[in-house]
Amino acid sequence: MLLQSLREQVLEANLELVRRGLVLYTFGNASGIDREQGLVVIKPSGVDYDKMKPADLVVTDLAGKTVEGTLRPSSDLPTHLVLYKAFSQIGGVAHTHSEYATSWAQACTPIPCYGTTHADSFYGSVPVTATLSNQDIDSAYEENTGHAIVKAFAESDPASIPAVLVANHGPFAWGPTAAAAAHNAVILESVARMALFTQGINSSAKPIARALHDKHFLRKHGKNAYYGQRGNKA
Ligand SMILES: [Zn+2]
Repeated sequence: MLLQSLREQVLEANLELVRRGLVLYTFGNASGIDREQGLVVIKPSGVDYDKMKPADLVVTDLAGKTVEGTLRPSSDLPTHLVLYKAFSQIGGVAHTHSEYATSWAQACTPIPCYGTTHADSFYGSVPVTATLSNQDIDSAYEENTGHAIVKAFAESDPASIPAVLVANHGPFAWGPTAAAAAHNAVILESVARMALFTQGINSSAKPIARALHDKHFLRKHGKNAYYGQRGNKA
């Protein structure tokens, strides 16, 4: 079997989304990529999580052709592939319909950075994509969803803001590995929930000050990071 270890990592990332309550029934998917081989491992479409085994995951190439697996890949595969091709540094992608992040996506509103929990993981507001045109929806919908995400990052770095809200749909998150993508999806849901409460408590709440935002993000990420143990940025 190809990519045994990546299959296990991707299965674990999918199960983490379920354990954290981000996925209802099968409304979510995580994938991982082997950059050397140019192969992607993704959840199969519509299989119950409690029965899913590493062998059930589907291996495809970057064109979406199945290289190994008898099940159909997640229908969101084309979105994942666009992200892998456009964001060369990422190694995993996670998509959910988690309630709070999806609520912001449905409101077509970026999530402002109100505090250090957000600033630790996302260097700025979590952006929202433009809405898709009817033409984009009618043909190659999932691929066009990926292009809308890439456009939303025309001016920002996907490594510094590892998540997005797809307008009227839900969040996609990513990271260096499938586990990191799932982790970022979990943090995103938490900051989406807190941002909603923050606005409810004080409708004129202001985003976090730049200095505090920088302090929190940059102590965990980049060349001058010092948070946690060496080799462990969690
Ligand atoms: Zn979806």
